[in-house]
Amino acid sequence: MGIMKIYAFEVRADEREAFDRMAAECGVEVIMSSEVPTLANAELVKGCEGVTTLGMGKLNRELLEAYQKLGVRCLSTRTIGFNHIDLVAAKELGILVCNACYPPNGVADFTVMMILMCLRHYKQAMWRGQVNDFSLHGLQGRDLKDLTVGVMGTGKIGMQVLRNLSGFGCRLLAYDVYQNEEAKSMAQYVDVETIYRECDIITLHMPLLPSTRHIINAETIAKMKDGVILINCARGELTDINALVDGIETEKIGALGMDTVEGEEGIVHADRRTDIISNRNWFYLHQFRNVIMTQHMAFYTEQAVDSMVRCGVEGIVKMAETGSYGTMLTR
Ligand code: NAD
Repeated sequence: MGIMKIYAFEVRADEREAFDRMAAECGVEVIMSSEVPTLANAELVKGCEGVTTLGMGKLNRELLEAYQKLGVRCLSTRTIGFNHIDLVAAKELGILVCNACYPPNGVADFTVMMILMCLRHYKQAMWRGQVNDFSLHGLQGRDLKDLTVGVMGTGKIGMQVLRNLSGFGCRLLAYDVYQNEEAKSMAQYVDVETIYRECDIITLHMPLLPSTRHIINAETIAKMKDGVILINCARGELTDINALVDGIETEKIGALGMDTVEGEEGIVHADRRTDIISNRNWFYLHQFRNVIMTQHMAFYTEQAVDSMVRCGVEGIVKMAETGSYGTMLTR
């Protein structure tokens, strides 16, 4: 049997060195490409047993069927989120799938930065500084210690957010479909209605699933405090972008700190200065002084990228060898 070939989609320049290192370590050949996986470029994977990708392509049934016919047996996503892959189709087609794991600190630290930037109107302050406007009016903030923060989803990242916030002296409420013991030492678990009713700041850390899609919508926003600060460093589609626009326009929402926004695919992770972009809601939201939108970059640290590439390559090799693996999503 020849050396195993892996086709790597969405490879960034900063991942190449780690890919070379992992290919040598695992004894595989990795073909690197910056393309996003689509049906139109499916033929690229011909002859590869494994495919690894990031989160910008839709790995739907049609595409997975094409990959299977071309000989793909294992698929890894170098992301923690796996909402872009049809796992039911993958299982039926016999394609093994795994996701990545990396320390939750990068995303959790970014979340706290978003909370503080929103509380202290830092987007506006930064804009002013660029034109030598060092005035204070309109920039008065609030002390985090006096506020109630709700963490929705107390998995790996949500837990680290709770640990990070523990030093600020704020009241911490938590909501999850499964409760864990460590969280109880830092926060009080409450039902979701209490989160909406009592929190000044709500931060989302659950996966995007059919049950969590648009969990933040017009109806749930109406239940929140006036001036609520919403933070989303998880997945854009957890929030209904139309409801966010309405919430900002009516000033029901005090500020938004979002690393992920519905409809970001095709916008983030590239220089769009000369492009005509037709996603009205995304750009409209982007221009508000109290809406901080970053380019889905909360994950982007040296440590995380190294782990993402390691999981991407090693995951495929282990699934192919053993038919099972720690972060495997299909069985
Ligand atoms: P995790 O699986 O450890 O935790 C997710 C938690 O959400 C679990 O405790 C789960 O029980 C809970 N949950 C599931 N459904 C829920 C619901 N309906 N209501 C409340 N809680 C629910 O995952 P994680 O490692 O903490 O990552 C969370 C998410 O963050 C990922 O799924 C991914 O989409 C996102 N993420 C974003 C970035 C980024 O760069 N912005 C990076 C990494 C991960």
